[in-house]
Amino acid sequence: MMCAICRRDARGYGFAPSFIRIDAPTVKLCSRRCQDITGKLSGMIDPNKHETDALLAASISGGAFVETIGKTDLSGWTEQEWAALIDVIVTSFQDFLRQAYADDPPF
Ligand SMILES: [Zn+2]
Repeated sequence: MMCAICRRDARGYGFAPSFIRIDAPTVKLCSRRCQDITGKLSGMIDPNKHETDALLAASISGGAFVETIGKTDLSGWTEQEWAALIDVIVTSFQDFLRQAYADDPPF
């Protein structure tokens, strides 16, 4: 199960909007930080501008990483280069989402 906010593994945290009489699904979360964000959203987890922007940020970070590798033929990449690219993209996506929700919660 993934965290509803940052998509990392959920680690025992959650939010049940029905307990505060809000009609929204119960979600699993990874941390108190993401739980706090969810609480501010009152459990409403829908695709929004933050997620779209997070994908763009991840794309830019991934592209910058590819430039540092200096090889455009991806079939010639090592396993470590692939793993590093995925790490850069996922980390960028998660960091962007956390910052976006912290700076501009959509409620
Ligand atoms: Zn999380």
